[in-house]
Amino acid sequence: MENRTPLIAGNWKMYKTPTEAGEAARKLAGLVAGVTGVEAMVAPAFVAIPAVARALSGTEIALGAQNLHWEDQGAFTGECSAAMLKDAGCDYVIIGHSERRHLFGETDEAVNKKVRAALAHGLKPVLCVGETEGERDAGHTMDVLDVQVARGLDGLSITAESGLVVAYEPVWAIGTGRTATPDQAQEAHAHIREKLGQVLGKPLANSTRILYGGSVKPGNIAELMTEPDLDGALVGGASLDPASFADLVRFRAA
Ligand code: PEP
Repeated sequence: MENRTPLIAGNWKMYKTPTEAGEAARKLAGLVAGVTGVEAMVAPAFVAIPAVARALSGTEIALGAQNLHWEDQGAFTGECSAAMLKDAGCDYVIIGHSERRHLFGETDEAVNKKVRAALAHGLKPVLCVGETEGERDAGHTMDVLDVQVARGLDGLSITAESGLVVAYEPVWAIGTGRTATPDQAQEAHAHIREKLGQVLGKPLANSTRILYGGSVKPGNIAELMTEPDLDGALVGGASLDPASFADLVRFRAA
């Protein structure tokens, strides 16, 4: 059994001004100080990254971004590069979130370029994959996951130092209040790990953390995390309130 330290990551989406985000990060840091054996990360909006970096300085909480552009610089209005995020203090970057894929038309090819850029700048990519409700109903879940993992990582040289994280986020469970059952999540995670084994080799697949995302809350996290291939959570709604997010980070104590 691999020793994969659970990662509890908060995706703050387009919520919180820089002032609010800095304040929330400060509160969270106070609430989770001293928690061991779990890593916490928050991903605020681009504009709030400096405020959150200041608030988290000297704490154990990691900082992430929600997206990036694959080029280092250039005429790409409204975008942010991996180099910019790294310089601003980010450790992680979420890539291919279902809202990016479905609301902004992000393709597997774009996701692949973004993962490559993150790796080139020492940012740990959190590669999001997951099926829609229609795909699940049609029995295509595992095929969708295979394609998203294979295309997302195609041609990249990934090592243990890359810090790659994969997040399984069934689209039908994101922000809907519907959570995958522990069995459904474990089945998908085991399948993703198998696929990662084909792409990266078994040792790296076994040490790669696979997070579950989709309506994770303080009331359901402990049960989900008993599954052997669930190595943490990517959390939207329940990460916005510092007290609720702190409860998630302390899931082992719940
Ligand atoms: C997410 O946005 O990654 C997510 C899982 O959202 P929620 O926890 O609100 O379902």
